[in-house]
Order: sequence, then C-alpha cells, then structure tokens
Amino acid sequence: MSFRRLALPLTGIAVSLALVAPPANAQDPAAEARSGTHGHGQPAKVPVAEGYGGAVSTVDLDASKVALAILKRGGNAMDAAVAGAATLGVTEPYSAGLAGGGFIVYYDARRGRVVTLDGREKAPQAMTETSLQENGAPIPFADAVTSGLSAGVPGSVAQWEVALRRFGTISLKQALQPAADVAANGFTVDQTFHDQTAQNAARFADITSTAALYLPNGAPPPVGSVFRNPDLAATYRELGRRGAEWLYGGSLGQEVVATVKAPPVRPGATRVVRPGLMEVSDLRAYRVLERPPTKIEYNGMDVYGMAPPSSGGSTVGEALNILEALPKAGLHEYLEASRLAFADRNKFVGDPGYVDVPLKGLLSDGFAKERACLIGDVAMPHPAAPGSPDGSYGGCRIEGTPFTGGEGAAAQTGQGAEAEKPEGPETTHLVVADRWGNVAAYNITIESTGGNGIVVPGRGFLLNNELTDFTFGPAPGDPNLPAPGKRPRSSMAPTIVLKHGKPLLAVGSPGGATIITTVLQILLNRYELGMTLPEAVAAPRASQRNAAATQAEQAFIDRYGAELTARGHTFTTVPGPPAGELGAATALEFLGRGKIQAVAEPSRRGGGSALVVSPDRP
Ligand code: GLU
Repeated sequence: MSFRRLALPLTGIAVSLALVAPPANAQDPAAEARSGTHGHGQPAKVPVAEGYGGAVSTVDLDASKVALAILKRGGNAMDAAVAGAATLGVTEPYSAGLAGGGFIVYYDARRGRVVTLDGREKAPQAMTETSLQENGAPIPFADAVTSGLSAGVPGSVAQWEVALRRFGTISLKQALQPAADVAANGFTVDQTFHDQTAQNAARFADITSTAALYLPNGAPPPVGSVFRNPDLAATYRELGRRGAEWLYGGSLGQEVVATVKAPPVRPGATRVVRPGLMEVSDLRAYRVLERPPTKIEYNGMDVYGMAPPSSGGSTVGEALNILEALPKAGLHEYLEASRLAFADRNKFVGDPGYVDVPLKGLLSDGFAKERACLIGDVAMPHPAAPGSPDGSYGGCRIEGTPFTGGEGAAAQTGQGAEAEKPEGPETTHLVVADRWGNVAAYNITIESTGGNGIVVPGRGFLLNNELTDFTFGPAPGDPNLPAPGKRPRSSMAPTIVLKHGKPLLAVGSPGGATIITTVLQILLNRYELGMTLPEAVAAPRASQRNAAATQAEQAFIDRYGAELTARGHTFTTVPGPPAGELGAATALEFLGRGKIQAVAEPSRRGGGSALVVSPDRP
C-alpha cells in the first residue's frame, strides 16, 4: 500500500499540546472565544469559532485539537477527519471506534465534486433473514444489544485506509498516532463519559474484558480522573505499522472473531449473551464502497447526502423537497414533511445491493409535490401511508396502505410508524474544512452507546452492535431484513450544502433515526426560519418519524407546544439517556471571503468543541 506522503513530518504533533492544561489567564478572552483558542494559542472548549484556513467541530475537545493540529501542519480535511475520528474512538469510545462503521460525505475541492464513502458494517455470510428470530419471533431487543450476534463486520478501519489513500495526504500510521498518544497519556473523564459508563455498568460488569477496562475498581471512573487505555494505544500503533490487513484477515481479525463467537462472559453471570456468526472470511471480504451522493436542489442550493444503505440522504432530501413544494415552510410543515418522508423511508429504503430502492423517485420534485398535497392546516391522521415514487406523478393522489415494517425488533407490532426503538445520542459526527476548500462530514458509530458491550480482550476497543439496525422480522416485504453480507439500513445523514458549486454548509448529528430530523430541523432553522447556524444548532428540537406523537425536547414543547397542539400535534418527551435531548450536532458554514464558522452544541451531551486554524485573515 503506498501513500502520497506529506512533505511536513507529522510525528509528535498536537497531542503533547492537547495534554497541557490551559493557562488560567487568557490574554483576550473575547477574541479567543471567537476563534476557539485559549491564552497562548491553547484551544479551549467553545461551541462556536470563526476564522480562516480551516475549521473543525466535534463533540470532544481532544478530538477537535487533534484534527486542528493536522490542519495546521498542512494536512487536508480528510486527514483531519480520520485522525479526529480515531481520537473519538479513544475519548468517546462508547460512540465510535475502530470496530464500528460510518459514512463520509466529502467535498473534493480539486475535482469540484461531492463523493461519499460507505464504511457501513455488514452482516456475516452466515446471517439469514431469520437469524434475529427464535421460534418464529424476534429475539428480545435487549438481548440482541449485548451479543456477538449483533456485531457487524466492521468498516471503520477499511474506511480510514481508503479515505486516506484516495483523498488524504498522510498514512494510516500518521493518522492514528495522535489518537494512540491520547490513549496512552490519557484524557480527563468528563460527566458525559462517566454517565455513559454508569448507564452501561450492569452489562459491562458481565463481560470480563469490558469490566477490566471501563469499570476499574468495579465502578465507572470518577469525573476529573485521567483515563488511560494502553491496550488501545498499542492496538492503534500496531494497526499503523501493519495496516488494515491486520484486522481484515490477519491476527487481529482472528481475535475479533474469537470474541464474537465466545464473548468473555463473567462466570456466574445470568445474562444471555448470544454468540455471533462472523468468520475471518467475512473480514477478508469487507469492502468500502464509494457511492454517488444523494443530491437535491433546494431554494437555489444543492444539498448532498448519504445514499442507501443510509436513509439519511433520501429522507432529508425528500422532506426538503416537500417543504419547497409548500407555500410556507414552518414547524407544522416540518413535522408533516418528516412524517411523510419517514413513511416512505420505512417502506422503500434498505441496502441497494439487495433491494431495489426507488431513490430517483423518492428524491424527485414530482413525487414531493404529490406528497406535499397531503399536508393541510392540521396534522394528518397517524400513520401516514407511504407514497408511490414510481415516476408517474399526478398531483394530489392519495394511495397506499400503512406499512407495518420498521427498524429493529420493536417494529414488529408497528402500524406504519417508525419503530420506537430507543434512540439515544449514540454515535458521533464531525465536520472539517481545510484551507483548500475540502470539506468532510463524517458520521462514525458503534450503534448503541457502548456498542455490544464487549471489549476484545487485551485490545482496548468495543465491538459494534450495528446489526440491531436490521428489522428482526418476521416482516414480509420489509427492505431491511437481514441477509448474508447485507448492510443494515442507517439513519446517518452527513450533509454538505453547495451554492453555485461551492461549499456553503456542512452538518450532521448522532441520534439513530432522530439524526434525520435533527439535520432537517437545523436546515429548516437556518434557511426557512432565519436563524444563524449557531442559533439553528442550539434551538430546541422535535422529531416526527411517522409516530402518533412527536418526540420533543421540553424547551420545544414549552415554546411551540400550544400553537402546534392547536393544529393537531401531540408531543412526548425524549426518554434518553440522557433524558430530554435530541442529537449532538456539529456543523460549519462558509461566511464568505474565506471566513469559516465552526459550530458545536452549546450544551447537549456536555457541549462540543469548535476550532479554527486562525482567527485572522491570512
Ligand atoms: N445505528 C444508527 C444508524 O446507523 C447510528 C447509531 C445511532 O445514532 O443510533 O442509523
């Protein structure tokens, strides 16, 4: 494997910086807050930063610092995105990691086009339509969550390698080194990491390798303590030396397979931890796929997203098209457009290698107009039936019967609604822009917060449980039933908006199926409701996924509940954990004349970290 090497040596960057405590007395706090730096150029954790020469936003200060350091040393947006993601695998190990998967949407400035890389996990070859059933019924969802059975063939390492080879300038070894240093030197445990560990403590305690790593002294690491993961540091270093092949067919792959087949369950534990079906041959056969992005035109902009097997691009795109077809696009219309787009997503979207997804129809203006006709002054009856994205659109026709499938085991009793599988802010999203105008929007995940709860012994990383994103069945006709080698439908929606062919905005979020509504609502806030991007990200959220009640943050209900209830909407709060929150977005916008605004959450999930290369015009 050969890499185009960066002229500048990237050894030893950043991470020594990252581990120095910020000085107490910053020089010009206001200017530093704007640019996301602390005194002496030391980055601080702020949710908004504006400046030049490149920008990054992630949920985590250490990851943002690593990505920023790569940019400062001459790396491009893809280099920084991969290095940042690998660092999130250390500091946000319950959301991201080398044994997970994800989707990258990338604006390649040199070629002037948007490309995507599908690093989604796959079902093993031995998985069939009934593998997530027992005696003709879905296995309990909670059992599947903590199991070898739900571990998909991981995509992230292959994706990192392909992303760097095709679009980056540094080697995998160079990209992993800062993350390895953070793992070796440690990071400070914050409330989010502590709470996520505590929320997982019962199942972690039942897996010996996981308890040894994440429950030192039998309890979650205290807030403020330094958490080190020397096993993961060694894994990243060896991966850098040996390349992705070490996982995809080599001895690390053998260890992953052994763990999936015989999870290290604590003697005496009563938990049923089903073994998985993965073989080394599945790892050897894994391929990252470069797919054309989804694209729709919206109010004079081009909105690019992730194509199937993610439903992110098609569902965000369809809903935006519906909104554009309406005379007015406010919050009522947002909820209704989302309801309709989810009805279609549930019926039509799955892995395009296995099902015929009518993507062109779903994203066509004709179909959107037909769907928009169903939206009136009051909320439509629940559930909305899917439409017919078949290429022949005649205005306002109402067709179809409610679709009873959906995502996850809980879907089996659904009546056309999105399965109410618990959707927490698992997963993570980062955005990066560089001085050349390349932009990366990258969702990386291990599915549940804590993945399947099983650390590969001695290697310091958790396995994913992405295969719980399949419909468990029986559900005849569902496009998202498992099959050998199939990728489960995702909701991840890394999104890049271009205007006149140039990047304008990038956005994405975690949150399972709520990812779609979070991205959609931020775009609505920005482009229809007159908010700035920081306001659009901070604003209270609601998520309508073709369910009877709309899930909403309490602040949304307080502010808009009365007005929307009068129009027939009903609301329910978000169960969590963390209770009450939808998503944890990251975004950036090009403000003109080279200025970039990087935006993270001010408070959700503890707040994120936005940084720019320089606050001053070069
Ligand atoms: N598994 C989810 C998906 O691909 C992402 C994880 C989450 O945010 O729930 O849609």
